[in-house]
Amino acid sequence: MPEHAPHPDLGAHATGGLEAAEAAALERHLEECANCREEWVRLRATALLVPRAAPPFTVPRGLERRTLDALADEQPAAPPLRRRRPARAVVAALAAAAVLLGGLVVVSRSLDSGPTGTLELDADLRSAADPSLAASATVRATPLGRTIALDSDSLPVLPRGGFYELWFVGPGDSVASPNRISCGTFHPDESGRTHVTLHAAADPALYPTLSITTEPGDGDPAPGPEVLSARGP
Ligand SMILES: [Zn+2]
Repeated sequence: MPEHAPHPDLGAHATGGLEAAEAAALERHLEECANCREEWVRLRATALLVPRAAPPFTVPRGLERRTLDALADEQPAAPPLRRRRPARAVVAALAAAAVLLGGLVVVSRSLDSGPTGTLELDADLRSAADPSLAASATVRATPLGRTIALDSDSLPVLPRGGFYELWFVGPGDSVASPNRISCGTFHPDESGRTHVTLHAAADPALYPTLSITTEPGDGDPAPGPEVLSARGP
């Protein structure tokens, strides 16, 4: 078998997402393809880390779209590798990988003796409407990308299904012409404490404003109402 790109079903198989017939066909391919076998071993090892990396988590509706949009925004000059729409399994694997990476970053941070990476931004997020609301965010550049450590004691627990979303916002951002990149979503714990590490590819020099919005969890990818923000340097 000549070298070829890894089989597109590997990600779905690693997370148990294939139908029995598809899984059997892929297993047969793995028996004869060292190329895919190597990738399979790597993906499977990563998939096995998921339950240990983060508590069970429902992927927010719209994450898949936002993940792809963010990737497209980050690489405006790169020619598309493939023009057809990626198979659903690949998109699902990408979304799962985004969640997984978030979990792994949290784990690696909690195992470290302290924060790693180069400090890029240390911001206090405030609300013009409600001075009792506040959060602090520390952005660091690491070899794995940027991490954003977010802390708050004042963000209220949202109604069931809702969540907060942190954004890097660039100049000229508007509803009609968005110029922002999501750093991910989060919930405070039951006691109303937020202590999370998110990650994003956006450069704070290009997207200097941090914004936290509330999202009702209705699947609409447009940002919800802003609750906190901070202008960068
Ligand atoms: Zn193969």
